[in-house]
Amino acid sequence: MKKDTRILHAGRHPEKFDGAVNPPVFHASTILHPSVAAMEKSGKTPFEGVRYGRFGTPTTFALEEAVAELEGGHRAVATSSGLAAITGALMAFLKTGDHLLMVDTAYFPTRKFCDEVLKGLGVETTYYDPLIGAGIKALMRPNTKVVFTESPGSLTFEVQDIPAIAEVAHAGGAIVMIDNTWGVLTFQPFAKGIDISIQAATKYIVGHADAMLGSITCATPDLWLKVKSSVATFGHSPGAEEMYLGLRGLRTLAVRLRQHAASALRLTTWLEKRPEVDRILYPPLPSDPGHALWKRDFSGGCGLFGVVLKPAAKAAVDAMLDGYEHFKLGFSWGGFESLVIPTSGHSIIRTATAWTPAGPSLRFHAGLEDADDLQEDLEKGFGRLAGGG
Ligand SMILES: *Cc1c(COP(=O)(O)O)cnc(C)c1O
Repeated sequence: MKKDTRILHAGRHPEKFDGAVNPPVFHASTILHPSVAAMEKSGKTPFEGVRYGRFGTPTTFALEEAVAELEGGHRAVATSSGLAAITGALMAFLKTGDHLLMVDTAYFPTRKFCDEVLKGLGVETTYYDPLIGAGIKALMRPNTKVVFTESPGSLTFEVQDIPAIAEVAHAGGAIVMIDNTWGVLTFQPFAKGIDISIQAATKYIVGHADAMLGSITCATPDLWLKVKSSVATFGHSPGAEEMYLGLRGLRTLAVRLRQHAASALRLTTWLEKRPEVDRILYPPLPSDPGHALWKRDFSGGCGLFGVVLKPAAKAAVDAMLDGYEHFKLGFSWGGFESLVIPTSGHSIIRTATAWTPAGPSLRFHAGLEDADDLQEDLEKGFGRLAGGG
């Protein structure tokens, strides 16, 4: 079966639920056990079957099965948000005295977790250049337990050489994680050497900007048990309705993603030629420095890209953004609607590499509106930019 077909079937078992096409939403905390013996037996394998709401219900298992299939991994663990997936995965493998290699272009709250929580627990983080490749060998230590990747990087979109990094990390005894939110369906992490793949399912899997959800897909049963145990210990369990929305979003993910990517490619191709623009940050664009690696490792793009403008006054850029009809100001991405955020100043934090854009930087999400309307919106915005705000 092709991927587009598999995504429709993944995690669905109508025969178990009176033929209903979609899995039912189990609103359950308490699960009744028929006897003390049955209760004791379920305690011996707490993460198998249905035991207590926090450990999962058939709704949870449907989502976990579907996400594991779409990422090509062994088994997944659903979490209450994308960030809970990141922290839950890291906490499964790190303890006092351990060392973590974290990509310098990580999602900002991931950095914050390393600098505040992990540091306080005595776990040392070294940030590394996303373009390091096999050179990461020089940073590996005997106590390096996890190498964390995110490709393309948050806000600046550098593409990492994941197979090269994974080979070195594995030789040094570390496991390799990826925040695979951008590559949700187009980057197959387990075929590239990743052990643990994280999704902010809030973005493209949910796809409608109406729920928080995360997932952690694991390569092996051993890794899965560690992650499941960590997530259960922290209590990162997602809500039943959120999981249902994730499952529902998943069915249309492939078609939505193609449209988001087509619009983003068209808009970035047009933007690149505009006199107001210094550079575009979008690996599917042939001129992007990460294009060759993207082409080697990804099967498509998505709607999220960056734009660096030529130097311009803040008031002019603010006027451009404030007046957009379709690109609304809001955090997150992956929903059906177009979004924009300014990323200059405090948003982009780098400590291992230099980030020196020529002018103000922005991040756009191309939604499912007609691309003609989106381009017109951007064009009118340049009029406000020229007007000076
Ligand atoms: C949004 C995002 C997250 C966090 O997801 P939440 O569901 O908002 O917690 C993690 N990683 C990336 C790359 C994201 O864009």
